[in-house]
Order: sequence, then structure tokens, then C-alpha cells
Amino acid sequence: MVGDGFRVYNYIPGGGGLPGSEIPRERISPFLMLDFNAEIDFGPSARVRGVGVHPHKGFETITVAYKGSVAHADSAGNSGTINPGDVQWMTAGAGILHKEFHEEEFSKKGGPFEMVQLWVNLPKRHKLTPPNYQSLTADKMGRHILPDGQGQVNVIAGTFNGTQGPAQTFTPVNLFDLRLNKGAKLTTSIPQNHNTALLLVNGTAAINGQTAPEHSFVLFANEGEDIDIRTTDGATILLLSGEPIDEPIVAYGPFVMNTAQEIIDSIREVQAGKFGELE
Ligand code: MN
Repeated sequence: MVGDGFRVYNYIPGGGGLPGSEIPRERISPFLMLDFNAEIDFGPSARVRGVGVHPHKGFETITVAYKGSVAHADSAGNSGTINPGDVQWMTAGAGILHKEFHEEEFSKKGGPFEMVQLWVNLPKRHKLTPPNYQSLTADKMGRHILPDGQGQVNVIAGTFNGTQGPAQTFTPVNLFDLRLNKGAKLTTSIPQNHNTALLLVNGTAAINGQTAPEHSFVLFANEGEDIDIRTTDGATILLLSGEPIDEPIVAYGPFVMNTAQEIIDSIREVQAGKFGELE
């Protein structure tokens, strides 16, 4: 559990916390972390579940909502609700405090909850960029409709087969929300220098001819191959790719910097109230 509101499985770096068994950084950079809250039914609760005020610095957090609603607020003065189909793209940059909770009405009623949180690294030259927040609501997504009712691809970031997504990124990143109906078949091509992976959020699919079960995570070889996805009964898939950031990483909890000194500085900054205030 993250706080008491997110029951997540960790896929990046993965390895169940066993040293050496996580995905090697150079194979998954610029992605730092992927937590998947597979669908779970949260019962009604008078008390709102979630994670209280905490800092982030040096990277971006991306929340993809499939089911359920999350309310958030940060020390830069942003707040709002992330509803199904929406994505929150938060740039922590130089440092931010925020909190993430189930939305109040959702909390009272309860119901199915399904989310992904992805962390994307910032290159050294942008680590201290001012905090920013992109509210990518469902209506803003790039929409690539597949022929013959096979489904659609919601393009969050980057370009899928010519359709562009709304997210502004600091390094090249693709993030695609694939909603595939029965018998769907699609092909796409990812730049050869990207690291590429996908998550079977719902359903099963054949990925380049190999069966990927529900909730599985597929890491592609860096061969620049075309990607071929077929599904018999339909599937929801999150496809991510990005250009690796080939710089040293020193990470400590919610801080991802380039040197140990920068981590020490970050902790001092939080203690000195430099990330702002949030109740
Ligand atoms: Mn957070």
C-alpha cells in the first residue's frame, strides 16, 4: 500500500526489492518507477484514503486514471481531480510538496479503482525547472481511431502513427493508452534509440506473436523493431517509450538527483521550508 489509498504492484524498477533483480537502469531510462494499482474495489469510507503531504524533486510524476477518482493539491497552488481517462503530468523539478487522496464523493460511495503512477526522470539541465502541472483531461488526448471498430489509441505524450499527444515533455517520451476491442490488430514503430515497455492493464494480447497475460509487463529489446499487438477479447494497454537519459542518478525516496550532495541539499531544503507550504 502507498498510504492507505493505493494498493500497488511495482513494475519499474521491479524485482520485488531484491538487489540486482530490478530492470537495469539503462534498459528502462528515462522511466524511474511504475506502480500499478490493478483494479480493486474500495468499499465506502467516511474517512478519505490516500497519501498525505510529501515532497518530490528532480523528476516528473504522471498519474493515469482508469477507474476511480483522485484529488490532489500541491504547494505551487494547483489542485484538482483526476477522473477516469484523465492524466496528471506533474513536474516536480526544483521541488514541490503535494498530497494525493481519493476524491471525496468517490470515497463515500466506494467502487472500482484502477490507476498507474509513472515517474519520468529529468535531464540534469532541467532538474531545477520550476514545478509545473499539466492537467491532461480525457478530451485533450490525441485520438487515433482504429478502423472497423477495433478501438482507439489515446495519445498522452509523443506521436502514435501520426497522431500527437498534448503532454509537454523535457526529453522524447511516448505514452499511449490503447483501448482495444475484440479482434483488434495494430502495428506501430518506436524509434530505435528508445527504451520501450508496455503494461497489460486489462485483458490479454499477443505482442509480436508472444502471449502477454493480464497485468503482465513487457520490456522490449532495443532492436527498433515494429510492434505488433493483437487481442482476441479486447485489452487496455499502456505503452511507454523514451529516449534514455545517460547521466548519473542518485535517488533517495522522493528525490532523484545526479549527486549525493544534491540529495543532502534537497533534504535540507525541505526542512527549511523551501518547497513551500501545504497543509
Ligand atoms: Mn507523490
